[in-house]
Amino acid sequence: MSKDIRVRFAPSPTGPLHMGGVRTALYNYLFAKRHQGTFVLRIEDTDQKRYVSNAEQYIIDALNWSGIPYDEGPGKNEKYGPYRQSERKEIYKKYADELIEKGHAYYAFDTAEQLDEHRKKHEEEGKTFIYNWHNREKRKLLNSLVLSKEEAEKRIQQGDHYVVRFKSPENKKLVLHDKIRGEITIDTNILDDKILFKSDGMPTYHLANIVDDHLMKITHVIRGEEWLPSLALHCLLYEAFDWEKPEFAHLPLILKPVGKGKLSKRDGDQLGFPVFPLAYKNPETGEVSRSYKEDGYFPEAFVNMLALLGWNPGTEQELFSLKELVNEFRLKRVSKSGAKFSPEKATWFNQQHLQSKSNEELAENFSSILLEKGISFDKNYIIKVVSLIKERAVFVADFWNLSSFFFQSPKNFDEKSARKQWKEETPEIMNELIIVLKELDNHPSEEIEIKVKEWITQKGIGFGKVMQPLRLSLVGALKGPHLFDIIELIGAQETIKRIEFAIKTL
Ligand code: GLU
Repeated sequence: MSKDIRVRFAPSPTGPLHMGGVRTALYNYLFAKRHQGTFVLRIEDTDQKRYVSNAEQYIIDALNWSGIPYDEGPGKNEKYGPYRQSERKEIYKKYADELIEKGHAYYAFDTAEQLDEHRKKHEEEGKTFIYNWHNREKRKLLNSLVLSKEEAEKRIQQGDHYVVRFKSPENKKLVLHDKIRGEITIDTNILDDKILFKSDGMPTYHLANIVDDHLMKITHVIRGEEWLPSLALHCLLYEAFDWEKPEFAHLPLILKPVGKGKLSKRDGDQLGFPVFPLAYKNPETGEVSRSYKEDGYFPEAFVNMLALLGWNPGTEQELFSLKELVNEFRLKRVSKSGAKFSPEKATWFNQQHLQSKSNEELAENFSSILLEKGISFDKNYIIKVVSLIKERAVFVADFWNLSSFFFQSPKNFDEKSARKQWKEETPEIMNELIIVLKELDNHPSEEIEIKVKEWITQKGIGFGKVMQPLRLSLVGALKGPHLFDIIELIGAQETIKRIEFAIKTL
C-alpha cells in the first residue's frame, strides 16, 4: 500500500466498551501496525443525552490494558485534534452549509408531532413513511425545498427548530465496496434523507463522522457490521463533498454462545462470563461489572481470543502473540458471517498463554496473591512451586489451591481418602519411613525416590501402602504433583514433621 495508512477507532462514550468494541479496536490496531500506519482514537460524543462521564477514561484504560494503545488521540500526538467531537463543534456547521449550498442538503422544519402524523397516515394506508424524494417535495412536508427561500430564512432567523437533511438521490444504483463483503449494490430509492445537523448547533453522527474521517486523513474505516446500513449515505456524502473516500471494512457480529443473536452487554451477567475488559462501575447504580482483567485473564489471552472471533489465519494455528497477530492479520481473512463466542474457548486461551509464560513471570504474579495471604517465601522457592503446578492451572488464581501445601502444612485430611488409605498398619510403616527420610535432607527428588523405593521393595510391601498415606500426610488429600518433587522442595525435615502430625491425628 503506497500512502500512509491511518485508521481510527471511534467509540461513543455511552458506557463501558464491551469485548466487541475491543475487537473493533484490535482489528484497527493490527491493520495499522501491519502497514506501519497510525491508529487513531476519536471520541464520538455528539449525542450528549447518552454521554456517560467515566466512559472515555474506561475506553482508554481498556485499550492500554489490552496492549493496543492508540498512537494519536485525546492527549497524545494531537496532530489533527481535538479528538473529541464535542470539542470540534464549530467545525461542522460550515460543512452542513456547504452541502446546502451545493444542493445536497436542505433545511427541514417538520416537528416530531407532524412527522408522527405522516407516519400514522402512511401506516393506515399500509405504507411506510420515508422522508426522501417520495415525499419531501410534496407540499405536506415543511422544508426549504418546498417553502420559498424567504420563508425558510425567516424561520431560521426567528429561531424555529430545524434540522439539515441530506438530499438522497432518486433512482440511482450505488455500487459500494467493502473489503470484507465485496461489492454491495444499493438502490437509493430506499434511503431516507438522514439528518446531518440540528438547530442546537450539533452535527449528527453521520456528518461528524465523515467530516472527521476526512480531516483526520483516515484511509481505512474498519468498524462493526451495524454500520453497514450507513455505508450508502457515507459514500454519498463523500461524493457530495467531492472528497476521496476511505476504504471500508465492516466486521462480522460477535454472536451469543448459543450461536443466535448478537452478544450483548447483559449476556455476561446472565450467562456467567465476562464481556467487559475491565471492571466498570456504573456511576448511577454503583454496580460493578465482571471483567476479563478481574477474572484473571492475561491481556495476551484476551486479545488472542478476540482476534480469532471473526478472523482466521488460514492455518490451524490458534495461539498468537500480539506481534504474530500483527504479522498475520489480513482483512481479507475476516469472515462475513457472525462469530460465535465461546466462554470455554476463552478460558482455554488463558490456560495456553499461562503455560507459555516463564515460571519467573508467573511466580511474580503468584507472589502478590501470597502476600495478600500474609505469606512470603523465597522467590526461587515460588518459582519451583510454579514449575510443578502450572500445567494444571488455567488462571494464576488457581495456583493457591494447587499448591497451598508447599507453603503451609495441612491442618486436616480428606476424610474419604483417609478412610481408604490410612490403615491399621500405616503408622508403623510411616515410622519406618521416617527413619529412611532422616538421611535424605537436601537430596534431589530422583535420589529420594530411588532410596524410598528401594526400601519399599526390600520390605516387600505394595507401593500404594506407602505412597498414598505419604501423599495424604504431605498434601492433606490425594492430589498434587510428583510426590518426591514435593519432598525435595519442602525438605525431609518438614516431610517428617507432617508424617508425625498425620500419625497423631489420623
Ligand atoms: N461512534 C460510532 C460507534 O459508536 C462509530 C462508528 C464508526 O466507526 O463509523 O460505534
